[in-house]
Amino acid sequence: MARRKRIGLFVSFPETIHVRRVFDGIRQRCEQYNYDLCVFAAGSHVVFPSEFYIKGETNIYELANFDELDGVILDHQTLTGDENDHTVKRILERLEDYKDMPKCSLEIQLGDTHLIPCDNDETMREMCRHVVTTHGKKKVCILTGPKGNDVAERRLEVYLDELKKLGVTPLPDHIIYGDFWYFAGDALADKIADGFIEKPEAVICASDCMAISFVEKLTKRGIKVPDEIMVVGFDAADEGAIAKIPISSFAPNDDIMGAEAVDYLRSVIEPDAPVPPKMIKPKGAFHPGTSCGCQTDPAHTLLCFRDMLYNISKNFADPDYFKSVDIGDVLESYSLERFTANNTIIECMENIKNSTNLLFPFRNFYLCLKENWLDVDDEQVHGYPDKMGIMVAASTVGEDEYCREDMSEVFCTADMIPKLHEERDIPSVFYFSAVHFNSKLLGYAVLQRDITEKKCINIVYRNWLRYVNSALEMIRARQRLQTLSVRDEMTGAYNRRGMYSLYKQMLASTGPDASLFVAVVDMDGLKIINDTYGHHEGDFGIKEVCSVIFSTLRRNEFCVRSGGDEFFIIGVGDYTKENVPERAIEFTEAMEKRDAELNKPYKFSASIGCVYYENCRDISLDLALSEADERMYSYKMKSRRHRSL
Ligand code: GH3
Ligand code: MG
Repeated sequence: MARRKRIGLFVSFPETIHVRRVFDGIRQRCEQYNYDLCVFAAGSHVVFPSEFYIKGETNIYELANFDELDGVILDHQTLTGDENDHTVKRILERLEDYKDMPKCSLEIQLGDTHLIPCDNDETMREMCRHVVTTHGKKKVCILTGPKGNDVAERRLEVYLDELKKLGVTPLPDHIIYGDFWYFAGDALADKIADGFIEKPEAVICASDCMAISFVEKLTKRGIKVPDEIMVVGFDAADEGAIAKIPISSFAPNDDIMGAEAVDYLRSVIEPDAPVPPKMIKPKGAFHPGTSCGCQTDPAHTLLCFRDMLYNISKNFADPDYFKSVDIGDVLESYSLERFTANNTIIECMENIKNSTNLLFPFRNFYLCLKENWLDVDDEQVHGYPDKMGIMVAASTVGEDEYCREDMSEVFCTADMIPKLHEERDIPSVFYFSAVHFNSKLLGYAVLQRDITEKKCINIVYRNWLRYVNSALEMIRARQRLQTLSVRDEMTGAYNRRGMYSLYKQMLASTGPDASLFVAVVDMDGLKIINDTYGHHEGDFGIKEVCSVIFSTLRRNEFCVRSGGDEFFIIGVGDYTKENVPERAIEFTEAMEKRDAELNKPYKFSASIGCVYYENCRDISLDLALSEADERMYSYKMKSRRHRSL
C-alpha cells in the first residue's frame, strides 16, 4: 500500500487568529484528501525579543525532514520579520536541496515557492461600501500597511478603486502607509489631532492593530469616535471586538487561502486526482462594532471575550471538561510547582506524563530528548543529533504509555517520530514543537491529533511546554549538582563522599554472606612526568589509569579517585581468595597493553594492591583500604627496586 501523503506546514505563534484560520482551511482539505499534516511551529512569533529563547523555539524547523514530506506550506505572516528574515531564509536554504518538492507560501511569495495569495478584494470593497454607502461618509482616509509590501499595496489599490466606483476621491494626505502594527495608528491619530492632516470623516484601517491604537489615541486626544471620525478595521481579531470602543471589522479569507494551498500542492503531488471545484471568494464575515456607529453583536463579543479570558468558569460535571482546557486550568494545575520539585529523572518524566490531560484532546503525545540531554556542558543549539530517545509516551487511544529515565527507546531523528510511519485508518495532525532551555537544545515534543480535530495547538500547549522546559532544566541542574558532590570531575570516578554513600547502599542491598574485594592503585612516577612533560601530561596519565581501571571493573564494582594519582576499586559480591592475584595480574597486563598503545617517551604504569575478605561485614572499609594500600606500596617498592636493577 502506498504511504499516505504528508503536508508540512511551517508557522510560528499558532495560537493567533491568523494561524487558526489558515490551519482550519488546511486541516479541512487534508481531511478531504486523506493527507497527514505535520505542523512545525515555534510557540512564539519569530520576532519575539528574547534572542536566545526564540533560537531554541525556531530550532524546530531544523527537524523537518523534507524526504518524508510530499509538500510544504510556508506562512509568510508568522515566519518573517526577525532580523534579516533569518528564520525563513534558513528554511528556504534547506529547501534548495529539494528542487522538485511542491512548495508554496501564503500571502506573500517566499523564495521560489508558489504564491497562494489571500484574496480579500471583495471584503475590502465591502469595507468601502460600508463606510460610504451605509454611513454616508465622503472624506475617507485609508491607512494601509508598509509601502512596497504586496499585501499593503493590493489593499490600497482595491480601496481606491472601490472608492472611485462609489464616487469618492480621497485627499492625497488621506492615503497613508502604516505598519499593520500599533505604531502607525497611534501616529496617524496624533497627526490628525495636531492638525497636520485634515480631519477625515472616516478611516479605513488595513489591520485591527492599527484601528485599535488609532481609536485609543483619538479618544485620548479628545476626538470622539465614531461621532467625529468613524473607524473600521480589518482582521476581526478578538482584541478589536472587546476593545473599549469595539472595532467594526472584517475577517480575512485566511481559511480559504489555507485550503487553496493544499489544493495547489495536491495538483502537483497527484496531478491525476480530480480537480477540486474552484472556490468562490466570498467576502469575509463583517463583525460590527461601535467604532463605525453600528451596534455590536453581543453574541460575537461574548465569544471573543471568552476566547481572550484566561480562566473560564467550568462545568466540572461535563465529561468533556478536559476538551476545553484553558490557560487558567494550566495555572491552577500547579504543574509548575510539581515539575520543579522533581528529585529524580523518572519522577520528572512521570509528572510530565501525568499532566498531559491538560493537552486533551490528542491521540498520542511524545517527549523526545537527545541522548546526552543531561550533559549541561553540551552547548548544541542548532539542528538535532541523529538519534532521539522517547522519554514520555502518553496515549488516549490505548497505545503504549510509558516514562523512561534512560535512552532505551531510541529512534532515528530523520523519522521525526516513529508513529508518523504507522498505518492508520484516518490521517493525523502531528505538531512538532521545540523542547529547549533558552537556546540550549534538549529535544522536541510531538502531539498527534486526528485530522478531524478542529483545535489547533494553542496558548495552553505553549505554556505547558514552557513548564516542561523548566522541569527538564531543573532536573539537569539537580543531577549535575548531585554528580559533582559524589564524583571526581576530571575522571568521572567517585570521590570519597560518593564512595561512603555508595558502599552503604551496596551493603544494604546485598546478602549476609557477601565477600569484599578492595584494590588500591597508584600511578608510578607521576611527579617525574609532571616535571618533565608538564602538568597537562600528568593529568592525561591520571585519566588513562582511570580508564584502564574502568575497563576492568565488574558489574558489582565501582572506582574511586581518592586523591592525586590514587584510585580504589571496591566490590561487594561473590569473591574468592584466588581473585586477588588474578585481578592484580589482569590490571597490570591491561596497563602494559595501554602503555604499548600510548607509546609515550616514558613508562606508563601503576601499582596495585588487592585484598579480599570472606565476609564484608567483618571489616570496616577504611581498614580494608589501608591494608590494600600497604600491599600496593610494598608492590611499588618491589617493582621500583626491580626497575632500578
Ligand atoms: P610513585 O611512583 O611513588 O607513586 O611516585 P609519584 O611520582 O607518582 O608520586 P606520588 O604518587 O607520591 O604523588 C603523586 C603526585 O602527583 C603528587 C602531585 O605532585 C601529583 N599530582 C597530584 N594530583 C595531581 C593532578 O591532579 N594532576 C597532576 N598532573 N599531578 C597531580
Ligand atoms: Mg604515584
